[in-house]
Amino acid sequence: MLDLLKRVQRELGLGVVLVTHDLGVVAETCDRVIVLYGGRIAEAGTTDSVFNRAQHPYTQRLLEAFPDVALSSERLVSIPGAPPRLNALTPGCRFAPRCHKVFEPCRSEVPAFWSVPGSDPEHLAACHLLDPRWEER
Ligand code: SF4
Repeated sequence: MLDLLKRVQRELGLGVVLVTHDLGVVAETCDRVIVLYGGRIAEAGTTDSVFNRAQHPYTQRLLEAFPDVALSSERLVSIPGAPPRLNALTPGCRFAPRCHKVFEPCRSEVPAFWSVPGSDPEHLAACHLLDPRWEER
């Protein structure tokens, strides 16, 4: 099915939006990736850049939770807690209740999008860790 999609895309010059939880499919198929959490964009950029230089803690945990057949003895990482209920959202970053890097502003301020240093200019992440105001914390 993925091969067929790729062929149709190439032959007709189409853009294809693939919605999936399967990171292997993303790595194999997509030029660009947008990581969503709680209805918001957490991180976006070229697949190469996001997979190799993930900055948002949610993206990092997702990638760590992806099994690597070369490391069969390694335990997979899981993200504690549950996704937010969209009818009971809290202020600030929606990932804050589950984030292993949460700090003061996360529970009150919605993070802006920031460029990822050393990455392609299209690679952005919505996280206070990239906000220069909090560099000295
Ligand atoms: S803004 Fe804060 S809670 Fe949200 S992902 Fe970044 S560090 Fe974690």
